[in-house]
Amino acid sequence: MTLDVAWAIDWTRRSARVVTEHREELIELDRQIGDGDHGENLTRGYTAVVARLDALEPAPVLVGDVLKLVATTLMSTVGGAAGPLYGTAYLRAAKVSATPVLDSAGVVALLEAALEGIVARGKATTGEKTMVDAWTPAVEAAVAAADAGADAAAVVAAAAQAAAAGAQATIPLVATKGRASYLGERSAGHLDPGAASSALILQAAADSAS
Ligand code: ADP
Ligand code: MG
Ligand code: MG
Repeated sequence: MTLDVAWAIDWTRRSARVVTEHREELIELDRQIGDGDHGENLTRGYTAVVARLDALEPAPVLVGDVLKLVATTLMSTVGGAAGPLYGTAYLRAAKVSATPVLDSAGVVALLEAALEGIVARGKATTGEKTMVDAWTPAVEAAVAAADAGADAAAVVAAAAQAAAAGAQATIPLVATKGRASYLGERSAGHLDPGAASSALILQAAADSAS
């Protein structure tokens, strides 16, 4: 089974629903180690994304058309760290998804490009208590699943599961990038909000594929 532009649209709409449903929780996580706006930032951004998707003429044909709309909208409507980080992720992912369907290798390429975009933009490596700690295991799991012969939907499912585990694993970490790094050792013991939202967005991708 492959994933097509209808999947990309469904993923986008589902992401908007999921970040809105978890708005308060993401705000609370960011209140603990940041400035408390992450849930608001993402809800505003994805609400704008859905509005633009509804108005998009002609209808998108390529997976990358959808991802590019998400990228440019998040970049222009989400302030703070997350807007440019997610925006760059979606923009890089769009560039490798200029096709009507994605097979398992295509999904791996999409996820790898997204992670590369986040790293290019934010210069974080794993263990710094950021969204990179959700995306890196997600990409690794996607590669492993594709190598083992999984189809595109199963690759996304593997990535989502690994992202959730990666997000949980940020709890004991001390932040060394982003706003949470201002807290130093006091950032330990809290789930990173960007890793949490990344896990939600990747779970949305998997749910849209199933
Ligand atoms: P801000 O910190 O500007 O208020 P948000 O609250 O929207 O922005 O997003 C915070 C999240 O952004 C963090 O939880 C972290 O996951 C992510 N983040 C911050 N800086 C970086 C970075 N340099 N690299 C990767 N992710 C980062
Ligand atoms: Mg914040
Ligand atoms: Mg902020």
